Amino acid sequence: MKTERAGSGPAPRVLSGVQPSGNLHIGNYLGALSNWVRIQHDYESIFCIVDLHAITVYQKPDELRAKIRELAALFLAAGIDPEHSRIVVQSTVPAHAELAWLLTCVTPMGWLERMTQFKAKAAAQESIGDGLFQYPVLMAADILLYQASAVPVGEDQMQHLELTRDIAQRFNSLYGDTFTMPATKLPTVGARIMGLDDPTAKMSKSAAGSGHAVALLDPPERIRKTIMRATTDSNPAVDFDTMGPGVANLLSIFQAFSEWTDDAVRAHFSGMRYGDLKKQVAEMTVSKLEPIQRRYKEIVSEPGYLDDVLRAGAEAVTPIANSTVELVKSRMGIYTPDCA
Ligand code: ATP
Ligand code: MG
Repeated sequence: MKTERAGSGPAPRVLSGVQPSGNLHIGNYLGALSNWVRIQHDYESIFCIVDLHAITVYQKPDELRAKIRELAALFLAAGIDPEHSRIVVQSTVPAHAELAWLLTCVTPMGWLERMTQFKAKAAAQESIGDGLFQYPVLMAADILLYQASAVPVGEDQMQHLELTRDIAQRFNSLYGDTFTMPATKLPTVGARIMGLDDPTAKMSKSAAGSGHAVALLDPPERIRKTIMRATTDSNPAVDFDTMGPGVANLLSIFQAFSEWTDDAVRAHFSGMRYGDLKKQVAEMTVSKLEPIQRRYKEIVSEPGYLDDVLRAGAEAVTPIANSTVELVKSRMGIYTPDCA
């Protein structure tokens, strides 16, 4: 039996993913994608379009097909470097689903019942698929499959990351040291961008309502309109001591895009009327999204390019994924032909 962890090479590995479940928004960008771009060269980086996660809630097939390609193009447009980082569509590497089953068998249901995302998403569905319940196990599989040591995500995924570590620990203690413990990597600003229509709810791709989110591909006029209509509070101007969550959210968006310090933001915005604050947040957002939108158009107009990137990504990561599954199977005593 092999004793080493599968695929754990000298370079620390980073893994993260986004569901192709709607329009990528500035929360996804500031909480996850921009962080990936910043750290990608410090790691061996794998970024996934997690289509198997998206189908835990019904997706129209044609829309899902289109969103997978759109997301891949947005990863590239935002600055993921395909010469260095791997961009992978989850379902093209079957080991994700295979490891998810193997981990399902070591995951107590009580752990999954505690997940707040499950509770929130289940409450919004008439009929709840078992996949929604199993979602965090598939996420654990995505990460543990590659022995990732760091997972850059938004704050909403912290609980799933803790569960991933619990599952890894339980597996390691039952079957011997097999999985690397992945650390959660949050951005300092922008880890939780709230809905512009309702600053008490996280901005989400799957949330309805035209005033909820700014999508990365929204035209400038629409971005301005959404931000100018954002919910604030009954004060007229910014007061850092008494501001409500809507104003705090607008300031976070500005700060995350501008990378200004806390002191600079405070000095600049203290006492500013909400109308002016919104104008500045809108212009900052438009100016940061404009180059991404330009690159996006170039990428999608190049025939075959996206498919080449996705094929290369899958080819590069499949051997790592398969070797982890083989190791897990052999540790568990599952039939493997080359094992005596
Ligand atoms: P869905 O509504 O379909 O769950 P989502 O907007 O929550 O979509 P995900 O694909 O679930 O997006 O998450 C992709 C990444 O974006 C994760 O790392 C997640 O933590 C991060 N993220 C999602 N929403 C926000 C947000 N509002 N602020 C900061 N980060 C976010
Ligand atoms: Mg989500």
